[in-house]
Amino acid sequence: MDGVMKRRYSYEIVPGLQARGMLARTFGSTRVVFNDFVAANRARRAAGEAFLGYPPAAKRLITDAKTTPERVWLREVSTDALQQSLRDADLAYRNFFNSIKGRRKGRRVGAPRFKTRHARQSARFTVNGFRLRGGWENTNPGGGRLYLAKIGNIPVRWSRPLPAAPSSVTVTREPDGRYFASFVVDVPDTAPVEPAHPGRVAGIDLGLKAFATIVYSDGTAEQVGNPRYFQAAQRRLARAQRSLARKVKGSKNRAKQRAMVAQLHRHVRNQRTDHARKLVRRLIDENQVIGVETLSITGIARVYGKQVHDAGWGGFLTRLASAAAEHGRDLVAAEGFFPSTQTCHACGSVEGPKGREGLRIRAWVCSCSTTHDRDRNAATNLMLVAAGQAETENARGGAVSPAPVLARPEEAGTRPTRTAAA
Ligand SMILES: [Zn+2]
Repeated sequence: MDGVMKRRYSYEIVPGLQARGMLARTFGSTRVVFNDFVAANRARRAAGEAFLGYPPAAKRLITDAKTTPERVWLREVSTDALQQSLRDADLAYRNFFNSIKGRRKGRRVGAPRFKTRHARQSARFTVNGFRLRGGWENTNPGGGRLYLAKIGNIPVRWSRPLPAAPSSVTVTREPDGRYFASFVVDVPDTAPVEPAHPGRVAGIDLGLKAFATIVYSDGTAEQVGNPRYFQAAQRRLARAQRSLARKVKGSKNRAKQRAMVAQLHRHVRNQRTDHARKLVRRLIDENQVIGVETLSITGIARVYGKQVHDAGWGGFLTRLASAAAEHGRDLVAAEGFFPSTQTCHACGSVEGPKGREGLRIRAWVCSCSTTHDRDRNAATNLMLVAAGQAETENARGGAVSPAPVLARPEEAGTRPTRTAAA
């Protein structure tokens, strides 16, 4: 498998006072040209005129606009960043058009909306608009600075070196006032390495009580908890949010509290990301085939409701899918066609707990007299689907390779084995 893939490398950057001022101008200007693009195309649509695409829009909304008194200040910021903003707007429209024509998979995409100054601020620069002082080889702790066109040099907290020269950088300002630079780097697609347990299949049931229940084709199982420090951080966040709601609108204390909430949010998000990354790493290192209920977050949301967003499953599944592709593992999603919770893995009859009420039922007894732990039975079914030993409507006939020899895991009563609580 030769080829390249795009990877993101993000770092905190520490712009000085002047650079912060210029970044604010750049964010404002990229927002204005984005909104000009949306306004122009809304007007054209209303008048029944054709869509104004990127090349003519760049001439009209950047080059020509700079000569008008209303937009003369666009000259003060990087043209590259302005162009990237218009490209984003152009892409947002094309996604929208493809979505209404049914040419785009997944959730329907709405028409692009105006950007507000309250959203997260960002600007993208291509190789025309940024440089790494000292070259990318110098991007280790204490290494090179990031030079941005019309802004200048910005120190970077290089937490890890870049593997190659980046092709673009997105600079963002978080609501708590911190700045980040996210570099896109082309890295070679590495050849897959055999897993630690060759041919082993894992079935994963994501839950609210435990983060995941995993059953393996060699007969072992484990439950991965939500880390204790993570729950503590979430409690702190909830407390800070309540306190924010009590502060007087427009007061200094409210602004301070808002920054604190933003910081806690980032902390929780980082911990969740770290937890997901470690679990994905281990699953990929150890198994050849991995079975999950669904890869679409809308699929999970349908079943579990809004708690999904707090649980961080979306990020986990996205990471798992990209790591599986990168390392040559097979990822099999039942995609909601298969009642993994209700099906008895021993006899195949579908009589387990149903619906949202069923979420509270931890254990059930099948008419074949097998006692099931809810999560472990679901994980077992997903493992069997992934192994090609059970069929689902959409997986029927689909090849799952390689076909492993299965040791059917025994049901250990209603108590799941706790071999690893992260
Ligand atoms: Zn049964």
